[in-house]
Formats: sequence, C-alpha cells, structure tokens
Amino acid sequence: MAELEFHGAAETVTGSLHVLHTDDGAIYLDCGLFQGRREDSRRINQSFPTRPADVKCVLLSHAHIDHSGRLPRLYRDGFTGPSYATRATCSLLSVMLADSAHIQEEDARFWNEKRAEGPQDFIQPLYTHEDVLKAMEHFLGVPYNQPLPVAGGVTATFLEAGHVLGSSSVLVELDGWRKTRLLYTGDLGRFDMPILRDPHTPLPEVDYLITESTYANRRHNDEAEMADKLVAIIQETRAAGGKVVIPAFSLGRTQHLVYALSQAIAAGKLEPLPIYVDSPLSVNITQVFREHPECYDAEARDFWHSQGGVFGRDMIRYITRVDDSKALNDMHEPMVIIASSGMCEFGRILHHLKNTVEDEKNTVVMVGFQAQHTLGRRIVERAEQIKIFGRMYELLARVEVLNGFSAHADMDDFAKLLAPLAPRLKAAFVVHGEPHQVSAMRDTLVAAGCSAVHIPTKGDRFKL
Ligand SMILES: [Zn+2]
Repeated sequence: MAELEFHGAAETVTGSLHVLHTDDGAIYLDCGLFQGRREDSRRINQSFPTRPADVKCVLLSHAHIDHSGRLPRLYRDGFTGPSYATRATCSLLSVMLADSAHIQEEDARFWNEKRAEGPQDFIQPLYTHEDVLKAMEHFLGVPYNQPLPVAGGVTATFLEAGHVLGSSSVLVELDGWRKTRLLYTGDLGRFDMPILRDPHTPLPEVDYLITESTYANRRHNDEAEMADKLVAIIQETRAAGGKVVIPAFSLGRTQHLVYALSQAIAAGKLEPLPIYVDSPLSVNITQVFREHPECYDAEARDFWHSQGGVFGRDMIRYITRVDDSKALNDMHEPMVIIASSGMCEFGRILHHLKNTVEDEKNTVVMVGFQAQHTLGRRIVERAEQIKIFGRMYELLARVEVLNGFSAHADMDDFAKLLAPLAPRLKAAFVVHGEPHQVSAMRDTLVAAGCSAVHIPTKGDRFKL
C-alpha cells in the first residue's frame, strides 16, 4: 500500500518536497529549500515530514535550489541513503549547493554580529560547506530513460523535462498485483528553448500525476523574438555610447543569453562588442554546461561545433576575480554586462547598477521574474529613485523589460504535455503555483477529462 504526502510547494512555488510512502520506506520527491521571510524559512527548512533516518531515498528532479537546497540538511540530520538525479544535475548540485551553503553561512554570520543579546541567541547556519561535501558522497548520477530500482518493488525513470540543464520529470512504478504508475513533473520547460532538448513527449500514461503549475494561465512571448529585441537594444545603446547591464539568474538564464548573443554575432546580426559574464557562480555553472553536451538539442550541438568550442571565450569574457569586476567600472566604451543576482537583491549586479543607472546613455535590461519588494521590481516599475547599498540613486538609464526568456512551460506547453494523460488518470495533484495558477491547471486537467484533480495543502495524504 502506497501513500502520497504533500509537504512543500503545496499552494506555493517554493520548498518542493513530496513524500511517497511505500512498504520499503519513505521516498522523497525533491528536497527543496523554502525561500521566504527569514523566520519562516528557518523553521520550515529545519523540519522534515518524516525522520531523516527513515528516508529510503530521494529522487531529485533538477538542481534549482527550491527543489534541491534542503538536501545537505537532510543528510546532516541523519539521512544516509542515496539521492538519485541525472548526471548533469549532480554536477550542477556541487556548484549550486556550495553557493547555497555560503549564503547560509554568511546569513548566520550577519545576524550573529547584529545580535547583542548574548550567545544563547546565536543562530547556526542551516548547513555549511562541510555538510554539502558529506551529502555529495551520496549523490548518484543516473542516465535518462532507464528504469532504475530505487527501493523494494519501486523503479524510477528520469525523463527529459526541458527546463534547465539536467532537469527531469520522474516516472515512479510500484509493483503490486497490478503496477501503479506515478509521474512527478518536477518543473516543466518549454518547446524550442535554446540549448536544451524539448520536454519528453509523449509523456507515459500513468495512474497518478503530480504537476507543477507555475505559469498555468500565462502565454509566453516567443523566445526568438525576444533575442532579436535584445540585439536591437544593444545596437541602440552602443550607438548612444552606453553600457547594457543585464541582471540574470546564474543557472539557465545566463547561458541562454550567452547563447543568444553568440548566435547573433555568428549570424552577423550583432557586431562584436565586449560581453562580460561577471559572476563566479555563473562562470562555474557555464563550465558545467560545457561538460554536459549530451543534454543539448541538435541545434546547440551544431552551433557550438561550428564555432569550434562551447560558450566560447573569444566572444564572451568570463570574470571571477573581484579586481577584474571592479575594473569594468573604469571602462567607458560600449559593452554588455551580465551579472547576478537576477532580482538585484545581492551580488555584483549591485555594483554595476550603482555605476550605470544615473547615466541616460546606459540601458538596464530585465529578463527575469521580479518578486515583490525586490530592487529588480523597482527597476521594472521604473521608479524614479532606487536604493543601492543604503544610498538613493536617480534611475535615469533606459529600462527595457523582456518577458520571453522563461524556462517554465506556459499554458500551451502544459496542454500539449499533460492533456493526453488526463482521461486515464485516477487522480492528479497540482502543486508549485500561486493560487490562481493552481486553479488554472485544475481547469485544464478537468477540461481534458480528469475527474479527480486535487490541490493539496501541506500535510495532506492520499492513498494510491
Ligand atoms: Zn526549476
């Protein structure tokens, strides 16, 4: 008898963690970090739905921190089993989790310095770099499309999700007098995305479906159109003698931008100009992309092959050293700077914004989702003044917002991927979405013929 339990990303988009209780123990589907207000996050990220020591294994859909970032804590609290993920995901995790540990350690240091009450109030980081290294000993890289025994009577198959490098949807099959099949989508990507292969189609027929719903009621702009717009913006800014600054997430968005600009230069649409990727994390992640060409689509393979190298250094300059980053401030010729973080909350992008926003010759291009109360959101809203490092700056630079670069499936992608499964489902569970997106996904599945669509809340359990 198996049972599903919902813990994270239930009625929200963060902290993905679902549990499949089997006769052989609990299997976690993802183990993501909850990202929100500090006090909530600390409490939630330290609590697990079962005793960590009782977990049989973890099946990890992809390397984004909201799907993987609680793993080092799970191991630290007593889990000793394997975590299965694709090989590319395992490579990305070594970079992503090390960065996450650094943030946890810095955060704890910052708060401990601020607190004057006494040692009893000091907080510990959620986990450290040491914990990440210990966790990594248990990561098992697996190939796509091959059924793998992961527990007694349970096999898992990782299918391409087309969302970020190494991303997968996971098919879980449970033996019994009749096989029970469950598909966990993870985060689904889009068709015809640059670099990555399309999501696996058709998805296998299953009895149960757990699906994300991030953009279940949105239709994205065309990616190629966005790339053309970006090139036009760069040309105009260059003609004005300015710099283009692009805040971008390190995993996925940065590599897509590099790819789009490299293609434009190779096709003669964009005259070469200095393009800098200024972020140690982005540089490390791009290195992981270079090491996993098996995950590229045919177009990307052909393109890089024709260029004689992948994410080449002849067109793009990668910066890791702080001195080299600072040196960009003193260069006044036209250039493109891609830096993190994507929402302008921390990282080197803040220095570049500080140095460019007060000059109307420059352009800030916003390419990602900007949460409320972030500096990125203020820029998208074209606030007259913005605060950086505690000082107010006039926002005189041109601001352009390009919304076509999403790595998430939109309503058309969902319909194409999931509607064929709907009529045969015994039940579907919709997670990982804001409330109106979750309801949109429920409507899509009901319209496609699924009569039992559930929107689980934290702690809900369902017998399979
Ligand atoms: Zn994701």
